[in-house]
Amino acid sequence: MKQPTLGNPQNTIAVLQKYNFVFQKKFGQNFLIDTHVLDKIIRAAQITEEDCVLEIGPGIGTMTQYLACAARRVIAVEIDRALIPILEDTLDGYENVRVINEDVLKVDIAKLAEEENGGRPIKVVANLPYYITTPIIMGLFEKHVPVKSITVMVQKEVADRMQTGPGSKDYGALSLAVQYYADPYIVANVPPNCFMPRPKVGSAVIRLDLHEEPPVKVKDEKLMFRLIRASFNQRRKTLANGLKNSPELDFTKEEIEEAILSLGKGPSIRGEALTLAEFAALADRLS
Ligand code: SAM
Repeated sequence: MKQPTLGNPQNTIAVLQKYNFVFQKKFGQNFLIDTHVLDKIIRAAQITEEDCVLEIGPGIGTMTQYLACAARRVIAVEIDRALIPILEDTLDGYENVRVINEDVLKVDIAKLAEEENGGRPIKVVANLPYYITTPIIMGLFEKHVPVKSITVMVQKEVADRMQTGPGSKDYGALSLAVQYYADPYIVANVPPNCFMPRPKVGSAVIRLDLHEEPPVKVKDEKLMFRLIRASFNQRRKTLANGLKNSPELDFTKEEIEEAILSLGKGPSIRGEALTLAEFAALADRLS
């Protein structure tokens, strides 16, 4: 296997110039130009020679080269057609890579895992396009795609929201959703100068290890997430008011108050004070 040639500013610029590549802001294109960060991501993802890896948004193929050296198989899904001839060039000689020119949100990833890994769990590794971080991650969770872990570069603020618990200003629907499906762990903070062009925000690499079993049992998972959304949509309201005002829910004032009371909570409690286990218990009372 060829050693990676990309990952530093000079070689990245050479590839971009060779193809007169124009960055597309709408695709969240910020390419990694720091080999230390790339090594750190690959190490954090704990890729082995048996692994099948899905890379979302390979760009010019920088991380793809690193992944190809570590994994058995790499599937890279890239939306920007202008990058496909570049990837053919930069990934020449990396025989274990398959590039798919598609919008990742439209790809049937479970089918890919079946074709490429016999249905066994794959690992997802990516420097994500920030404008669709949440739909990508929630899509992987909710469609119950066979995934072992997700190691991704995201906006620093989003990584914080994924990892935090009750009592923090960052705690919200994303924290609860991520923690229901996975164990989050922030691997590294990454400053803007590690990318070309530089993003306006700080970034972080986060690893999400998917649970084999959810950490809490709930009779109606969908209802629990409706309750979570309702309580954080109106963050400054009490939990009872948030649930009463939600167009997604249809419970009476009495039903809601009784359920909250049965958790041992007072009427002025806010949703942001509840743990995942308490939201699950609330859903069970109301279901
Ligand atoms: N992996 C490269 C790197 O680290 O240098 C590029 C990362 S860049 C932050 C995000 C990449 O995702 C871009 O190549 C962009 O074109 C691609 N992308 C954006 N939206 C996408 C989508 N819906 N489906 C697939 N790829 C997408």
